[in-house]
Amino acid sequence: MPEPLSESTLLADAQTIPSIMKAAVYRGMNDVRLEEVPVPEIGRGEILVRVHTCGICGTDLKKIASGSHSAPRIFGHETSGVVARIGQEVRKFKAGDRVVVFHHIPCRQCYYCRSKTFAQCETYKKVGCTAGFEPSGGGFAEYVRVMDWIVEKGTVAIPDGVSFEQACFVEPVNTCMKGIQTLRLESDETVLVIGQGPIGLILSVLAARTGALVITSDLYPARLTISRELGLEHTINASQADTVRTIRELTDGRGADAVILAVAANALIRPAMDATRPGGRVLLFAQTVRGEATIDPAAVCVDEKTLLGSYSASVELQEESVRFVMNREMDLEQLISHRFPLSESVEALRRAADPQPDSMKIVIQPGSAWEGRSL
Ligand SMILES: [Zn+2]
Ligand SMILES: [Zn+2]
Repeated sequence: MPEPLSESTLLADAQTIPSIMKAAVYRGMNDVRLEEVPVPEIGRGEILVRVHTCGICGTDLKKIASGSHSAPRIFGHETSGVVARIGQEVRKFKAGDRVVVFHHIPCRQCYYCRSKTFAQCETYKKVGCTAGFEPSGGGFAEYVRVMDWIVEKGTVAIPDGVSFEQACFVEPVNTCMKGIQTLRLESDETVLVIGQGPIGLILSVLAARTGALVITSDLYPARLTISRELGLEHTINASQADTVRTIRELTDGRGADAVILAVAANALIRPAMDATRPGGRVLLFAQTVRGEATIDPAAVCVDEKTLLGSYSASVELQEESVRFVMNREMDLEQLISHRFPLSESVEALRRAADPQPDSMKIVIQPGSAWEGRSL
């Protein structure tokens, strides 16, 4: 008797999934090439997602520029798309479902998980999405394989009426929520957010939701225009005004209760601390490159200022970040300044690594080849 056709085979037959696809393959430091690679095979409990939109994240750019990871790899972890094929025993999703995927989920049992430092968990560091090679996200490709534990715990359906573009912000929003939680803002506090790129803007909007008074600063007036459009009315144009002096003037000479540094430049750590009141907190949100930086040690000891950091997402904020994005509590699509088809992904990455005054979030859209519209 012939073997009965498995569910995945039947679904695969219902649509045409090619065996070869295009992907942006990282081949070493500053070397990403558009190549043809096999469409990933999936196993039991896994799904294959046809990528529509994948955001370019600062951490992708850092890995590419520093050559910190072995090659080859396919990066991209802010991925939304359509389920193209399901493996045996997948019950949560079916082919055709629109989804967004988290690329890693912690074990919730180890030492680090018990102390809620999920990003340090070994299981968390194990990436559960791949377009081939060492699992590294895989969103900069036509198809991505989502492994079983991510299907169960890290894949979320996108409701009707929410675009792939809006949905791909779930992970960045989660990282920002985690940063705001780390900062423990009170509603009567004043917080300065330095940098109004897409992440700085999300941090600012989330900070405002705590009731705190949010003041934003950036060198580029165009970005501050977006801040104001998002209801962040207190802005400092850092190309014209001294941010530290302005913030002191606004706070009876004290400085802000908290400062968020959403710019990677370490030269801004010192001014960020200077803009903070004695006993206040500074959150380093973009300092992902190891090295050394200048601080005034007495600002920590004598002035009792606290330096904090936050990196990556928190599984405990997953539902809240999904709700925020899917309920469109913030129009995140508006933060996208450039959309590149997969065929121009090398250019997209180059562009993202060299931000111009008009660049905000840059996304790669393999889906633009199969769907003209973003929804
Ligand atoms: Zn990211
Ligand atoms: Zn763990």
